[in-house]
Amino acid sequence: MKKQLDQLSAYGPGLSPDTLKKKYGIEGELYKLASNENLYGPTPKVKEVIKAQLDNLYYYPESGSPALKEVLSKHLHVDASRILFGAGLDEVILMISRAVLTKGDTVVTSEATFDQYYHNAIVESAEVIQVPLKNGGYDLEGILNHIEDTTALVWLCNPNNPTGTYFSHDELHHFLERVPSHIPVLIDEAYVEFVTVNDFPDTLKLQEAFNNAFLLRTFSKAYGLRVGYVVASSDAIEKWNIIRPPFNVTRLSEYAAIAALEDQIYLNEITQINAKEREKFYQIPQSEHFLPS
Ligand SMILES: *Cc1c(COP(=O)(O)O)cnc(C)c1O
Repeated sequence: MKKQLDQLSAYGPGLSPDTLKKKYGIEGELYKLASNENLYGPTPKVKEVIKAQLDNLYYYPESGSPALKEVLSKHLHVDASRILFGAGLDEVILMISRAVLTKGDTVVTSEATFDQYYHNAIVESAEVIQVPLKNGGYDLEGILNHIEDTTALVWLCNPNNPTGTYFSHDELHHFLERVPSHIPVLIDEAYVEFVTVNDFPDTLKLQEAFNNAFLLRTFSKAYGLRVGYVVASSDAIEKWNIIRPPFNVTRLSEYAAIAALEDQIYLNEITQINAKEREKFYQIPQSEHFLPS
Protein backbone atom coordinates (compact mmCIF):
# COMPACT_ATOMS: atom_id res chain seq x y z
CA MET A 1 0.00 0.00 0.00
CA LYS A 2 1.07 3.57 -0.54
CA LYS A 3 2.18 4.93 2.85
CA GLN A 4 0.27 8.17 2.41
CA LEU A 5 -3.07 6.33 2.44
CA ASP A 6 -2.68 6.23 6.23
CA GLN A 7 -3.09 10.01 6.15
CA LEU A 8 -6.42 9.85 4.32
CA SER A 9 -9.80 8.28 4.86
CA ALA A 10 -12.51 7.19 2.45
CA TYR A 11 -15.00 9.88 1.49
CA GLY A 12 -17.70 10.25 4.13
CA PRO A 13 -20.92 11.27 2.39
CA GLY A 14 -23.78 13.01 4.19
CA LEU A 15 -26.41 10.76 5.74
CA SER A 16 -29.42 9.82 3.61
CA PRO A 17 -32.77 11.48 4.41
CA ASP A 18 -34.12 8.19 5.83
CA THR A 19 -31.12 7.75 8.13
CA LEU A 20 -31.36 11.35 9.28
CA LYS A 21 -35.06 11.02 10.08
CA LYS A 22 -34.39 7.97 12.23
CA LYS A 23 -31.36 9.49 13.93
CA TYR A 24 -33.11 12.71 14.93
CA GLY A 25 -36.64 11.32 15.23
CA ILE A 26 -37.94 13.65 12.52
CA GLU A 27 -41.42 12.97 11.18
CA GLY A 28 -42.75 14.20 7.87
CA GLU A 29 -40.66 15.38 4.96
CA LEU A 30 -36.95 16.03 5.13
CA TYR A 31 -34.79 17.42 2.34
CA LYS A 32 -31.07 16.80 2.41
CA LEU A 33 -29.10 19.77 1.11
CA ALA A 34 -25.62 18.79 2.28
CA SER A 35 -24.33 17.48 -1.07
CA ASN A 36 -25.78 20.38 -3.08
CA GLU A 37 -27.84 18.04 -5.21
CA ASN A 38 -30.66 19.47 -7.32
CA LEU A 39 -33.72 18.37 -5.35
CA TYR A 40 -36.01 19.31 -8.27
CA GLY A 41 -34.30 16.59 -10.27
CA PRO A 42 -33.13 16.76 -13.86
CA THR A 43 -35.45 17.83 -16.68
CA PRO A 44 -38.28 15.29 -17.17
CA LYS A 45 -36.86 14.74 -20.68
CA VAL A 46 -34.04 12.78 -19.05
CA LYS A 47 -36.49 10.02 -18.09
CA GLU A 48 -37.66 9.62 -21.68
CA VAL A 49 -34.11 9.41 -22.95
CA ILE A 50 -33.16 6.84 -20.35
CA LYS A 51 -36.22 4.72 -21.21
CA ALA A 52 -35.25 4.82 -24.87
CA GLN A 53 -31.72 3.62 -24.01
CA LEU A 54 -32.90 0.69 -21.85
CA ASP A 55 -32.81 -1.72 -24.81
CA ASN A 56 -29.11 -1.00 -25.32
CA LEU A 57 -27.99 -1.51 -21.75
CA TYR A 58 -25.78 -4.53 -22.43
CA TYR A 59 -23.60 -2.62 -24.90
CA TYR A 60 -20.64 -0.71 -23.57
CA PRO A 61 -21.03 3.00 -24.18
CA GLU A 62 -18.94 4.58 -26.89
CA SER A 63 -15.60 5.38 -25.36
CA GLY A 64 -15.08 9.09 -24.69
CA SER A 65 -18.81 9.96 -24.95
CA PRO A 66 -18.61 11.29 -28.54
CA ALA A 67 -22.35 12.08 -28.86
CA LEU A 68 -22.31 14.22 -25.73
CA LYS A 69 -19.00 15.75 -26.76
CA GLU A 70 -20.50 16.93 -30.04
CA VAL A 71 -23.49 18.59 -28.33
CA LEU A 72 -21.37 20.19 -25.60
CA SER A 73 -18.79 21.39 -28.09
CA LYS A 74 -21.55 23.29 -29.96
CA HIS A 75 -23.05 24.57 -26.72
CA LEU A 76 -19.73 26.00 -25.47
CA HIS A 77 -18.33 26.91 -28.90
CA VAL A 78 -15.11 25.00 -28.27
CA ASP A 79 -13.52 22.29 -30.39
CA ALA A 80 -14.48 18.75 -29.37
CA SER A 81 -10.78 17.87 -29.03
CA ARG A 82 -10.62 20.20 -26.02
CA ILE A 83 -13.20 18.30 -23.91
CA LEU A 84 -12.73 15.28 -21.62
CA PHE A 85 -15.54 13.66 -19.60
CA GLY A 86 -15.51 11.91 -16.25
CA ALA A 87 -18.07 9.88 -14.31
CA GLY A 88 -18.61 13.00 -12.23
CA LEU A 89 -16.13 15.84 -11.92
CA ASP A 90 -14.44 13.93 -9.10
CA GLU A 91 -13.12 11.49 -11.69
CA VAL A 92 -11.77 14.35 -13.79
CA ILE A 93 -9.92 15.71 -10.75
CA LEU A 94 -8.51 12.22 -10.18
CA MET A 95 -7.41 11.81 -13.81
CA ILE A 96 -5.65 15.17 -13.92
CA SER A 97 -3.90 14.55 -10.58
CA ARG A 98 -2.83 11.11 -11.72
CA ALA A 99 -1.55 12.35 -15.07
CA VAL A 100 0.45 15.27 -13.68
CA LEU A 101 1.66 14.70 -10.13
CA THR A 102 4.73 12.87 -8.86
CA LYS A 103 6.78 12.97 -5.67
CA GLY A 104 8.43 16.35 -5.15
CA ASP A 105 5.56 18.26 -6.76
CA THR A 106 3.49 20.76 -4.85
CA VAL A 107 -0.13 21.63 -5.40
CA VAL A 108 -1.36 25.07 -4.40
CA THR A 109 -4.97 25.72 -3.45
CA SER A 110 -7.01 27.37 -0.71
CA GLU A 111 -7.99 26.15 2.71
CA ALA A 112 -11.72 25.49 3.11
CA THR A 113 -12.23 24.43 -0.48
CA PHE A 114 -13.26 21.28 -2.35
CA ASP A 115 -11.48 18.39 -0.67
CA GLN A 116 -10.73 16.23 -3.71
CA TYR A 117 -7.85 18.47 -4.88
CA TYR A 118 -6.04 17.68 -1.62
CA HIS A 119 -7.10 14.04 -1.50
CA ASN A 120 -5.86 13.15 -4.98
CA ALA A 121 -2.63 15.13 -4.59
CA ILE A 122 -1.73 13.17 -1.46
CA VAL A 123 -2.53 9.87 -3.20
CA GLU A 124 -0.09 10.86 -5.98
CA SER A 125 2.69 11.64 -3.46
CA ALA A 126 2.54 15.42 -3.95
CA GLU A 127 2.50 18.02 -1.20
CA VAL A 128 -0.35 20.46 -0.82
CA ILE A 129 -0.17 24.10 0.20
CA GLN A 130 -3.54 25.33 1.47
CA VAL A 131 -3.48 29.11 1.52
CA PRO A 132 -5.64 30.65 4.27
CA LEU A 133 -8.89 32.33 3.30
CA LYS A 134 -9.06 36.09 3.07
CA ASN A 135 -12.35 37.77 4.03
CA GLY A 136 -13.93 34.31 3.92
CA GLY A 137 -12.95 33.63 0.31
CA TYR A 138 -10.06 32.66 -1.96
CA ASP A 139 -6.91 34.75 -1.47
CA LEU A 140 -5.57 34.83 -5.04
CA GLU A 141 -2.63 37.05 -4.05
CA GLY A 142 -1.71 34.61 -1.29
CA ILE A 143 -1.90 31.70 -3.72
CA LEU A 144 0.33 33.55 -6.16
CA ASN A 145 2.91 34.06 -3.41
CA HIS A 146 3.09 30.29 -2.90
CA ILE A 147 3.70 29.38 -6.54
CA GLU A 148 7.30 28.22 -6.97
CA ASP A 149 9.48 25.91 -9.07
CA THR A 150 7.94 22.75 -7.65
CA THR A 151 4.34 23.86 -8.27
CA ALA A 152 2.70 21.37 -10.64
CA LEU A 153 -0.98 22.29 -10.30
CA VAL A 154 -3.01 25.21 -8.97
CA TRP A 155 -6.64 24.47 -8.03
CA LEU A 156 -9.21 27.26 -7.82
CA CYS A 157 -12.86 26.72 -6.99
CA ASN A 158 -15.21 29.46 -8.19
CA PRO A 159 -17.75 29.96 -6.68
CA ASN A 160 -16.05 28.19 -3.82
CA ASN A 161 -17.53 25.12 -2.14
CA PRO A 162 -18.11 25.45 0.81
CA THR A 163 -17.70 29.20 1.46
CA GLY A 164 -20.02 30.32 -1.36
CA THR A 165 -17.68 33.19 -2.28
CA TYR A 166 -16.43 34.04 -5.78
CA PHE A 167 -13.68 36.00 -7.49
CA SER A 168 -14.38 38.21 -10.50
CA HIS A 169 -13.31 38.14 -14.14
CA ASP A 170 -10.79 40.93 -13.58
CA GLU A 171 -9.34 39.25 -10.50
CA LEU A 172 -8.90 35.96 -12.34
CA HIS A 173 -7.45 37.75 -15.37
CA HIS A 174 -4.95 39.60 -13.21
CA PHE A 175 -4.05 36.33 -11.47
CA LEU A 176 -3.49 34.40 -14.71
CA GLU A 177 -1.27 37.19 -16.04
CA ARG A 178 1.17 36.54 -13.22
CA VAL A 179 1.20 32.72 -13.10
CA PRO A 180 4.09 31.24 -15.12
CA SER A 181 2.52 29.92 -18.32
CA HIS A 182 3.80 26.35 -17.87
CA ILE A 183 1.84 25.87 -14.62
CA PRO A 184 -1.70 24.54 -15.12
CA VAL A 185 -4.41 26.52 -13.32
CA LEU A 186 -7.52 24.37 -12.86
CA ILE A 187 -10.68 26.39 -12.37
CA ASP A 188 -13.55 24.37 -10.92
CA GLU A 189 -16.90 25.98 -11.77
CA ALA A 190 -19.22 23.25 -10.45
CA TYR A 191 -21.80 25.91 -9.50
CA VAL A 192 -21.47 28.30 -12.45
CA GLU A 193 -25.09 27.82 -13.56
CA PHE A 194 -26.30 29.32 -10.27
CA VAL A 195 -24.27 32.51 -10.60
CA THR A 196 -26.29 35.71 -11.06
CA VAL A 197 -23.59 38.42 -10.68
CA ASN A 198 -22.36 40.28 -13.76
CA ASP A 199 -18.64 40.26 -13.05
CA PHE A 200 -18.20 36.47 -12.83
CA PRO A 201 -15.28 35.22 -14.99
CA ASP A 202 -15.87 34.29 -18.61
CA THR A 203 -13.31 31.53 -18.27
CA LEU A 204 -13.75 30.25 -21.83
CA LYS A 205 -12.80 33.74 -23.02
CA LEU A 206 -9.77 33.86 -20.71
CA GLN A 207 -8.64 30.53 -22.17
CA GLU A 208 -8.06 32.30 -25.49
CA ALA A 209 -5.28 34.31 -23.86
CA PHE A 210 -4.06 31.77 -21.29
CA ASN A 211 -3.17 28.31 -22.55
CA ASN A 212 -2.66 27.07 -19.00
CA ALA A 213 -6.15 28.00 -17.77
CA PHE A 214 -8.30 24.87 -17.61
CA LEU A 215 -12.03 24.90 -16.94
CA LEU A 216 -13.86 22.18 -14.98
CA ARG A 217 -17.62 21.85 -14.86
CA THR A 218 -20.22 19.24 -14.00
CA PHE A 219 -23.82 18.28 -14.68
CA SER A 220 -24.04 17.00 -11.09
CA LYS A 221 -25.31 20.15 -9.45
CA ALA A 222 -27.66 22.36 -11.51
CA TYR A 223 -28.46 19.71 -14.14
CA GLY A 224 -29.03 16.95 -11.57
CA LEU A 225 -27.04 14.06 -13.07
CA ARG A 226 -23.47 12.93 -12.58
CA VAL A 227 -21.21 13.73 -15.50
CA GLY A 228 -18.24 16.08 -15.21
CA TYR A 229 -15.82 17.51 -17.75
CA VAL A 230 -12.74 19.64 -18.32
CA VAL A 231 -12.13 22.08 -21.17
CA ALA A 232 -8.40 22.43 -21.78
CA SER A 233 -5.87 22.60 -24.61
CA SER A 234 -6.18 19.64 -26.98
CA ASP A 235 -2.58 18.67 -26.07
CA ALA A 236 -3.45 18.35 -22.40
CA ILE A 237 -6.67 16.48 -23.18
CA GLU A 238 -4.77 14.00 -25.33
CA LYS A 239 -2.51 13.14 -22.39
CA TRP A 240 -5.25 13.05 -19.77
CA ASN A 241 -7.33 10.82 -22.03
CA ILE A 242 -4.63 8.15 -21.60
CA ILE A 243 -5.56 8.04 -17.91
CA ARG A 244 -9.33 7.92 -18.50
CA PRO A 245 -10.85 4.49 -17.78
CA PRO A 246 -12.06 3.26 -21.19
CA PHE A 247 -15.84 3.32 -20.67
CA ASN A 248 -16.05 5.69 -17.71
CA VAL A 249 -19.26 7.57 -18.46
CA THR A 250 -22.19 5.17 -18.77
CA ARG A 251 -24.46 5.17 -21.81
CA LEU A 252 -27.39 6.30 -19.65
CA SER A 253 -25.39 9.21 -18.23
CA GLU A 254 -24.18 10.28 -21.65
CA TYR A 255 -27.66 10.46 -23.18
CA ALA A 256 -29.19 11.92 -20.03
CA ALA A 257 -26.60 14.72 -20.14
CA ILE A 258 -27.45 15.46 -23.78
CA ALA A 259 -31.15 15.78 -22.91
CA ALA A 260 -30.33 17.98 -19.91
CA LEU A 261 -28.07 20.26 -21.92
CA GLU A 262 -30.69 20.63 -24.63
CA ASP A 263 -33.33 21.75 -22.14
CA GLN A 264 -31.95 25.15 -21.19
CA ILE A 265 -35.50 26.37 -20.41
CA TYR A 266 -35.73 23.89 -17.55
CA LEU A 267 -32.24 24.82 -16.36
CA ASN A 268 -33.26 28.49 -16.26
CA GLU A 269 -36.32 27.64 -14.19
CA ILE A 270 -34.16 25.77 -11.69
CA THR A 271 -31.56 28.52 -11.39
CA GLN A 272 -34.25 31.20 -11.01
CA ILE A 273 -35.94 29.26 -8.22
CA ASN A 274 -32.54 28.85 -6.60
CA ALA A 275 -31.79 32.58 -6.80
CA LYS A 276 -35.15 33.36 -5.18
CA GLU A 277 -34.66 30.83 -2.38
CA ARG A 278 -31.10 32.07 -1.84
CA GLU A 279 -32.49 35.57 -1.29
CA LYS A 280 -34.82 34.17 1.37
CA PHE A 281 -31.88 32.42 3.02
CA TYR A 282 -29.95 35.69 3.15
CA GLN A 283 -32.87 37.22 5.08
CA ILE A 284 -32.50 34.68 7.89
CA PRO A 285 -30.26 36.03 10.69
CA GLN A 286 -26.91 34.30 10.48
CA SER A 287 -27.24 32.94 14.01
CA GLU A 288 -30.15 30.83 12.79
CA HIS A 289 -28.38 29.34 9.76
CA PHE A 290 -27.25 26.21 11.52
CA LEU A 291 -29.16 23.66 13.55
CA PRO A 292 -28.00 23.39 17.16
CA SER A 293 -25.82 20.32 17.55
C1 LIG B 1 -19.80 18.54 -6.30
C2 LIG B 1 -18.50 19.12 -6.69
C3 LIG B 1 -17.61 18.43 -7.53
C4 LIG B 1 -17.79 17.01 -7.94
O1 LIG B 1 -18.83 16.84 -8.76
P1 LIG B 1 -19.27 15.40 -9.26
O2 LIG B 1 -19.62 15.67 -10.68
O3 LIG B 1 -20.42 14.99 -8.41
O4 LIG B 1 -18.12 14.45 -9.14
C5 LIG B 1 -16.44 19.07 -7.91
N1 LIG B 1 -16.15 20.30 -7.47
C6 LIG B 1 -16.97 20.98 -6.66
C7 LIG B 1 -16.60 22.33 -6.22
C8 LIG B 1 -18.17 20.40 -6.22
O5 LIG B 1 -18.95 21.06 -5.37
